[in-house]
Amino acid sequence: MQSLQVMNTTPELSTAQALPEPQLTDVTSIGGTVVEQTAHHNFSLAAQRLGLSPDQQLLLRTPFREVKVSVPVQMDDGSLRVFNGYRIQHSGARGPAKGGIRYHPSVDAGEMQALAEIMTWKTALVDIPFGGAKGGVACDPTKLSAGELERLTRRYVSRIHRFIGPFRDIPAPDVNTNAQVMAWILDEFSSRHGYTPAVVTSKPIELGGLRGRSAATGNGVGMVLAEHMKARGRSLSGLRVAIQGFGNVGSNAAAFIEQQGGEIIAVADVNGGILSSGSRPLRVHDLIEHVRLTGSVVGFPGAVAIDNEELIALPCDVLIPAALENALTEDNAADVRASVIVEGANLPTTAAADRILRDRKIDVIPDLLANAGGVIASYFEWTQNLQQTKWPLDKVNRQLRAYLTRAYRNVRKVAEARDMSLREAAWLIAIDRVAQAESLRGAMRTRNARA
Ligand code: NAD
Repeated sequence: MQSLQVMNTTPELSTAQALPEPQLTDVTSIGGTVVEQTAHHNFSLAAQRLGLSPDQQLLLRTPFREVKVSVPVQMDDGSLRVFNGYRIQHSGARGPAKGGIRYHPSVDAGEMQALAEIMTWKTALVDIPFGGAKGGVACDPTKLSAGELERLTRRYVSRIHRFIGPFRDIPAPDVNTNAQVMAWILDEFSSRHGYTPAVVTSKPIELGGLRGRSAATGNGVGMVLAEHMKARGRSLSGLRVAIQGFGNVGSNAAAFIEQQGGEIIAVADVNGGILSSGSRPLRVHDLIEHVRLTGSVVGFPGAVAIDNEELIALPCDVLIPAALENALTEDNAADVRASVIVEGANLPTTAAADRILRDRKIDVIPDLLANAGGVIASYFEWTQNLQQTKWPLDKVNRQLRAYLTRAYRNVRKVAEARDMSLREAAWLIAIDRVAQAESLRGAMRTRNARA
């Protein structure tokens, strides 16, 4: 362990000290799903550079707690279905575990583990006092009625309530969950433990939610992109942007970028994509309204239909993957024509794709940094629930920008000093912070541990 030093606040990784060159492994040889391989690859590069021993690496990667539960739900037609539910708490070294709840058919233990781990590094990177967690239920919410969704949520909480709480693990929305789902979780948890608004974040405002929380991840994507362009001597004005995924993250990022003068030229969702026709960019407000009415971006008046692969290969300045994992793979990374990629989604770029993008000198602003706006705003919400205070929206956005700007500049400084990608620098800083916390708490000894 190379960089531990005792300081009163989270110390910055020293940029002067030489770090060993890591040995690259063939990720496909380590087994697991693609997202597990991507997380493993990024972790091992940084851990080797930090001089962490195999035992220390094992400690830092192994989830603290893994919960799998059955979630029986009475369906509207009277039948009974049993769904699988998960909550993985990867680390609580720097604070209570924190992470979203996802409802999707692909939810399984491996995916949840990789995403929980990402949360640990993300909260460390942006320096908020949380660990990492992720959970979800393997289901297709588009095929559930509102009543079935509520019963599923309540039953899931009844099975995991002992493991969550304001000082244990604080869920938030993720793919296919929203403020209403958080309200049901709050209600179900509070019925057992007393009124506890700080048990979930991204709640409705009426129940202690934070103004600006629902837009914070997408706004944060825009803020980090603006900071990156500033470092390259540009602004968002006139940037041509393509976005994959037009849900919470994609649509709010689009609105922020458009408001700052950027041009959204194409978007795609699970049903297909659209490209603006002629020289006029898409009008984001109208597109959001079209999605609200029809459920998809497809069929937006005046736009040309494209598919997801065409979107990825469009000539544009910025590509924002804001849907699911593994959007950029070795099969399509060579087709990318944007010069900047901002990872709105978690783990959208496989290790092989990342190498191709780096060789092609395409800047990738990594997920740990690019989509951290949501969890930062969740931190604001949690502290306000604990203190029974409320911030106005302008303060939320000012503080959000301050946290993200500081994290971006720190990552950039380390990347430039060590000739690394932004991703490598982000993982290095984050793992170093969690390793310091584990070391101080006594879970692992390090060579430089507190003299
Ligand atoms: P969402 O459910 O609101 O939206 C997901 C969008 O992706 C939808 O438009 C959907 O149609 C689209 N999509 C799904 N599969 C697709 C496919 N195969 N091809 C193209 N589009 C597809 O979810 P969200 O909250 O916007 O989350 C998106 C991503 O951002 C996820 O990776 C999530 O983990 C990550 N994220 C979300 C938050 C948050 O605060 N919501 C925070 C950090 C990271």
